[in-house]
Amino acid sequence: MIVARKSREVIELRKKMSGTVGFVPTMGALHEGHLSLIRKAGEENDNVIVSIFVNPTQFLPGEDLEKYPRKEDADIKICEMAGVDLLYMPGADDMYEKDELRISSPALRGYILEGARRPGHFDGVLQVVMKLLNLSCADRAYFGKKDTQQLIHVRQMVRNYFMKTEIVACETVRDRDGLALSSRNVYLSREERKRALSIPRALERAGKLIMNGEMRVSVIEKEMRLVLEKEVDLLEYIAVVDRYFVPISEVRPNDTVILMAVKVGKTRLIDNMWV
Ligand code: AMP
Repeated sequence: MIVARKSREVIELRKKMSGTVGFVPTMGALHEGHLSLIRKAGEENDNVIVSIFVNPTQFLPGEDLEKYPRKEDADIKICEMAGVDLLYMPGADDMYEKDELRISSPALRGYILEGARRPGHFDGVLQVVMKLLNLSCADRAYFGKKDTQQLIHVRQMVRNYFMKTEIVACETVRDRDGLALSSRNVYLSREERKRALSIPRALERAGKLIMNGEMRVSVIEKEMRLVLEKEVDLLEYIAVVDRYFVPISEVRPNDTVILMAVKVGKTRLIDNMWV
C-alpha cells in the first residue's frame, strides 16, 4: 500500500493503475462501517483508493472540527490489512487554496433536515467530494446509507455535472446492540449510549408498523416520538422522504427513507431506514 500526502502523487499513481478503480472517501477513525465500504470496493474493482481527510469546509463554526477523532497510525494499519492499494491522507493546504471556486448543494433539498441544521455543510461535502472524485478518477465510489442525505446530494452532483463515477450505496453497519457505527460514538458515555439505543428501537418500531400495513407518516412519526422522547435530550427531526428527498405523507415501499437526528448529551447522532 502506498500512502500519498500530496494530490500530485495521487494523479501520478492513478495513471499507473490498470483495470477498474473503486474509491472510498472517509474522515478516518475507521470502523467496521468504513471497512464494509472498502471491502465492497475491493470485491468490485481491480484497485482500491481510500482517502482520509477531516474536511474543514464541511464543519460549521462551533462544530467538532478540532475535537473530531483522529487515529492516523491505526487507520494506516487497517487500510493495509484491508488490501487498500493507495491511501491518500492530505493536509488542508494540499486540498485548498485561498478564495476557492464554490460548489453549492441544491437550493431546496440541500437546506432541509441536515442542511437546515447545518447550513453550508453539504456545500463543503460536495466541494471535497468533487475534488476527490476528480483526483481518483474512480469507476465507482462507495458511500454509506448512514449518511443518506449526503449520498443523495453526491449522486445529484455526479448527475448534474455529467461526472463519470458510479456512486454505490452501501448498507449501514450496526453494533451488536443496534446502534449505527459512527466515529462520533466515542463521545458517548455508557449511560448516554444506553439512551442512544432508542434510535434503532424507534426505526424498528417504524418498520414493524409498516410491515403491518400502516403507511400514514403522521402515525409512524408519532409512534417513533413515543420511543425516543423519554430517552434522548433533543429530538431534532423525524422525517419521511422519497428517494429524491422530497417529503411524503404516505410511505411508498421501495421509495421511502425514514430519517432522524437527535442529541444525546452533547453528541449529535443521525440514523435512517430505507423502506
Ligand atoms: P465518514 O468518515 O464519517 O465521513 O464516513 C465515510 C463514509 O463511510 C461515508 O460514506 C459514510 O456514510 C460511511 N459510513 C459511516 N458510518 C457507516 C456505517 N455505520 N455503515 C456504513 N457506512 C458508514
